[in-house]
Amino acid sequence: MTIPNRPAPIGAEAVPDSHGLNVFRADPTLAALLPLYLPDDLLAHLTPHLDRLGGLAGGRLAELAATADTNPPELLHRTRRGEDAQSIAYHPAYRDMERLAFGDYGLAALSHRAGVLDWPAPMPAAAKYAITYLFVQAEFGLMCPVSMTDSLARTLRRFGDAALVDRYLPALTSQDMDALFQGAMFMTEQGAGSDIANTAVTAAPNPDGSWALTGDKWFCSNADAELAMVLARPEGAPAGIKGVSLFLLPRLLPDGAPNRYRIVRLKEKLGTRSMASGEITLEGATAWMVGEPGAGMRQMADMVNNSRLSNGVRAAGMMRRAVTEALFIAHRRIAFGAPIVTLPLMRRQLAKMLVRAEQARSMVFQTAEALRRSDAGEPSAYALLRILTPLLKFRACRDARVVTGDAMEVRGGCGYIEDFPDARLVRDAHLGSIWEGTSNIVALDVLRAAAREGSLEALAAHLSALRADTPDPLPQLEAATARAFALARHAGDEGGPVLARQAASALYNVASATMMAWEARALPERATLAAMVLAHRVLPRDPLAATDEPIPDSLLPDPGAKR
Ligand SMILES: Cc1cc2nc3c(=O)[nH]c(=O)nc-3n(C[C@H](O)[C@H](O)[C@H](O)COP(=O)(O)OP(=O)(O)OC[C@H]3O[C@@H](n4cnc5c(N)ncnc54)[C@H](O)[C@@H]3O)c2cc1C
Repeated sequence: MTIPNRPAPIGAEAVPDSHGLNVFRADPTLAALLPLYLPDDLLAHLTPHLDRLGGLAGGRLAELAATADTNPPELLHRTRRGEDAQSIAYHPAYRDMERLAFGDYGLAALSHRAGVLDWPAPMPAAAKYAITYLFVQAEFGLMCPVSMTDSLARTLRRFGDAALVDRYLPALTSQDMDALFQGAMFMTEQGAGSDIANTAVTAAPNPDGSWALTGDKWFCSNADAELAMVLARPEGAPAGIKGVSLFLLPRLLPDGAPNRYRIVRLKEKLGTRSMASGEITLEGATAWMVGEPGAGMRQMADMVNNSRLSNGVRAAGMMRRAVTEALFIAHRRIAFGAPIVTLPLMRRQLAKMLVRAEQARSMVFQTAEALRRSDAGEPSAYALLRILTPLLKFRACRDARVVTGDAMEVRGGCGYIEDFPDARLVRDAHLGSIWEGTSNIVALDVLRAAAREGSLEALAAHLSALRADTPDPLPQLEAATARAFALARHAGDEGGPVLARQAASALYNVASATMMAWEARALPERATLAAMVLAHRVLPRDPLAATDEPIPDSLLPDPGAKR
């Protein structure tokens, strides 16, 4: 790239502003990769919807998200007439975002029924995650209730009895905001977070077959959801995880009376400030057991895995927004007479961010495809899904912390100011590594999937098939992959949990490099990125060696360029 010598603009025009950017058009890689993961007819149908959402996410939706973030929900304990009736007051901006996500885009419904966005069948996971990927570039907080509702419907359909499914599925998948029932997951207690075996909330049988739940739940996102999946210990059940069962808790009882639980307070949070996370006290609340007694954690794992996957998708989307912002700035901000994208040190910084964001994107769509195949009944696809999900949740959520932080720096001082999207991206990104299982817990889950589900073999077979289908496989990747698998096997055998994170990172990096090399059939730049993953994140490097690696212009396009 030649460096144009330009005088720095003076005043407001010197501060680039990306507001109004269509984040779908600004990111042609998404459109280039989707044909690999979606059937032609669905992609053709979906593309105008993605384009509209891209415009919203860079404009109106971004404004709503910023407003909702600075006007968090408020817990009200009484009506204005003094009646004891709890409610959560949301800013109208949050309500508008709900209408877009649950209503217009049917994000919680489109996996479960036909008719969303006028498509005549339920959509495959890749469609849901393409929409999520764009939506989350503007708003992260609301994506939790959306994912919870979708995941609760999935788990209820899998394990709930037919009467419960018939009663609640239509409302859970409604696009009419007056009819919609949202979902939540109340698992964590003060003494039971990562270690769910400590669950202390109790369940006592009612004469009509329902249960009465009593005790405290400590973190309850979407606290006023109409339905929640709750873990509790039936009276007389054994201690430990085998004594924990799964229950469906309605906010209102079938006769319309409020159920017997209270939202005690809402948490004051670093991120996801638009969305209400509360503490809840159950006071003999009516609930129905879902599935087998004592199988609570096994069944809840289905919901947790689905929302872990959604978290990985959200981390990928947030990284993409961060990279889009950084590239936009880098092409416009002038320092020392040139746009900063021309400066060698800046190019290296941008490329490092890009590599992590693009690894996550490949993992998202490959995992979505594994989910589609698994739901279609392919046994080896389930084993693959079981390992890709925690790999993505673990590594992409950690990378999102770094990438959003680095993007903030590309904007200079303005990056730290809440007027621009970067600061909120940083605040939100930090949560991904904590909820739905912390990094340690999720990395350990990778080893668990390997030990219990044969997932290492399934992943090895999948990567080998991708390599065989890649015209120009990267030299060294096959050997590096073999070493990553050897490390993971060693961690699972005698190495122990101390190696879990190292092994998970190694598997993620070789898997994503293999996927990106395979994707080069649609977009040649994927091969360059795959090689960078290998060089920067897999192979040993000499920190004392001088490395001058020119970054090609094709990797750092201007997201604001007219196309
Ligand atoms: C904003 C927010 C919203 C949330 N919403 C919900 C919700 O809607 N529903 C819900 O059920 N929960 C929710 N959570 C709770 C969240 O899932 C838990 O906080 C999380 O799982 C960790 O549990 P903990 O806080 O008890 O931490 P702990 O389990 O006490 O963990 C503390 C530390 O110990 C580490 N650790 C624990 N076990 C191991 C191990 N075996 N090896 C190595 N390290 C270990 C952890 O990695 C962590 O760093 C929410 C949390 C937040 C912050």
